[in-house]
Amino acid sequence: MENQQLQLCACCTHQYQLEDSFCDSCGYPFQGTKEQQDAYIANRTVKEIDLVDLNKKVKTACNSLYWIAGIIFISSILAFFTIEDENEIVIFLVTTVILVGAFLALAVWSKTKPATALISGLSLYIIIQVLNMIAEPSSIARGIIFKVLIIGYLIKGIMAVLEVEKIKKELNIK
Ligand SMILES: [Zn+2]
Repeated sequence: MENQQLQLCACCTHQYQLEDSFCDSCGYPFQGTKEQQDAYIANRTVKEIDLVDLNKKVKTACNSLYWIAGIIFISSILAFFTIEDENEIVIFLVTTVILVGAFLALAVWSKTKPATALISGLSLYIIIQVLNMIAEPSSIARGIIFKVLIIGYLIKGIMAVLEVEKIKKELNIK
């Protein structure tokens, strides 16, 4: 076939040449049967719907980074009034500023690098809980529902991000 005329892929509108078997961009089978082509598009549609759902989960998880910053900030204000030692107050304030700042930074960063930001956020959150538990064993029970919810959202978010990346690779979406 000498026809060099460019066609547009029925699936992703990428340009292709008549003799091509598959779309370079999305893998659509140009030479396949009608059934194969329909099945390809149906499968892709299902994955695109999954992607919308997964992206919502990622967004919720990223928002929980803001929640963590807020919870640390509020619980620090409450704890602040129970400290009497002046040196302890300085250390306490510095720690609070660093932690709140870190989670706010992770929340902003999660817009562009959700996987890394969520994994860092989860690790930092667990480290804080472990340190608190060592310093004050009774603190584990305090706000346990919040803690479980936050860890749950972060883990779900990380799993959703990984799934999103896998589907995007399959669908060849940037
Ligand atoms: Zn295509």
